[in-house]
Amino acid sequence: MTSLWLTEGSAGPGAAPLPDRCDVAVLGGGIAGTSVALHLAERGAEVVLLEREAIAARASGRNDGQLLLGLGEHYHRIHGQFGAERARLLWRFLADNHAAMLAAVRAHGIDCDLHQRGGLRLAETAHEAHELEQAAALLHAEGLPHELVAARDLPRWLPGSRGFHGALFLPGEAIVQPVQLVRGLARAAAARGAHCVLGAEVAAVTGTAGDLELRLRDGRRLRAAVAVHCTAALAPQLDRSGFLARTVFPFRGQVLASGPVLDASFPDFAMSSNFCYEYFRHSRGRFVVGGKRWSVPGEEVGIVDDATHNPQVTANLLGYVREHFPALQDVAFPHVWTGIMAGTPDGLPLCGALPGCPGEHAFLAFNGYGLSFAFLAGRCLAEQIVDGTQAHAALPLFAPRRFALA
Ligand SMILES: Cc1cc2nc3c(=O)[nH]c(=O)nc-3n(C[C@H](O)[C@H](O)[C@H](O)COP(=O)(O)OP(=O)(O)OC[C@H]3O[C@@H](n4cnc5c(N)ncnc54)[C@H](O)[C@@H]3O)c2cc1C
Repeated sequence: MTSLWLTEGSAGPGAAPLPDRCDVAVLGGGIAGTSVALHLAERGAEVVLLEREAIAARASGRNDGQLLLGLGEHYHRIHGQFGAERARLLWRFLADNHAAMLAAVRAHGIDCDLHQRGGLRLAETAHEAHELEQAAALLHAEGLPHELVAARDLPRWLPGSRGFHGALFLPGEAIVQPVQLVRGLARAAAARGAHCVLGAEVAAVTGTAGDLELRLRDGRRLRAAVAVHCTAALAPQLDRSGFLARTVFPFRGQVLASGPVLDASFPDFAMSSNFCYEYFRHSRGRFVVGGKRWSVPGEEVGIVDDATHNPQVTANLLGYVREHFPALQDVAFPHVWTGIMAGTPDGLPLCGALPGCPGEHAFLAFNGYGLSFAFLAGRCLAEQIVDGTQAHAALPLFAPRRFALA
């Protein structure tokens, strides 16, 4: 059960041999690991990326490929949760992430089917439409680009849809083919000297800052001055301190994709409804839709198995498609897959020193929004590791120690 993106994705970098030692060992080759490896290599660090399977094999190759603003949340809710100042910082960080990542996509010539046409947050109910108005009022007050779309205008924005109560358009959002994006970043990292060692499962990390030893499952060893954990929901297995086991939890998302049934009138926006719990997009004529984990008992929290899917989630996603897109009533969805995300109690990622483990850094738990965070956060972390600077004002919001101090 693999994703549409993985079946059609371009190749990653060729597998490199394992050296004896390096400056920085990066564990995991998803969007987090490839981003930080690229930025470290660009800053002259000798980097070894250790990936137990292939680049983008897990969540980074199994998501919906949407570059979102605002944690997928409506803006007034971010204000409510974090306060006005931190909400503004977060929004700016995500906008800066997209700008930096898309600049890199262009600079490195990464062909990832990028469509930078904005995003449409649709209201599932009249209540959500009212919340979108509240979000729009705050965006307006802060001079952030957006457009409120009335329900009567939706046929023009999203032809063939029904049952939505209005929408908020965010021009800064985009969609990509995520496997091609992440493998492109890995090739760029390799071109700058990073060693991407594939089929390299890390079994244990021992030692301390400046003298860490990473033991692989097959018995090989690597010495490194610094290690960056980018293994998402599996990171607690390698954390000697127990901090990540207390802080990070897994949850499973599910996606369906049709064959080529859409024509060019179906927009290429990043799209979602129901407070981003359901999300959908156009990809080369195919309708790709995910979400509905809230509709089953347990909400797929605690699951780390992405080799199976939940048939009830599949049925509920098909119901969503039929409710909102009547023309797709009888369309088959031959592609079904799942992916495992990592979450934290406050919904923000971990990016920085791993408490209790000198020389080790956590760079993980994007709470379902890794494409929106990881490129710029990876650059900030690389700068912190290489020359101790803190490159973005939002970075303290992601410091793992916020949970150690709690
Ligand atoms: C269904 C779904 C839809 C989503 N939609 C979106 C979206 O539209 N937009 C968005 O921004 N985000 C989305 N996400 C979230 C996004 O996919 C994740 O936040 C992101 O991919 C996490 O990247 P990562 O590098 O931290 O983890 P992963 O991509 O999971 O990478 C971790 C890597 O570590 C490797 N690894 C694990 N253990 C070891 C070990 N011991 N040794 C070596 N390697 C190891 C794994 O093989 C894996 O390749 C979605 C996720 C899912 C599942």
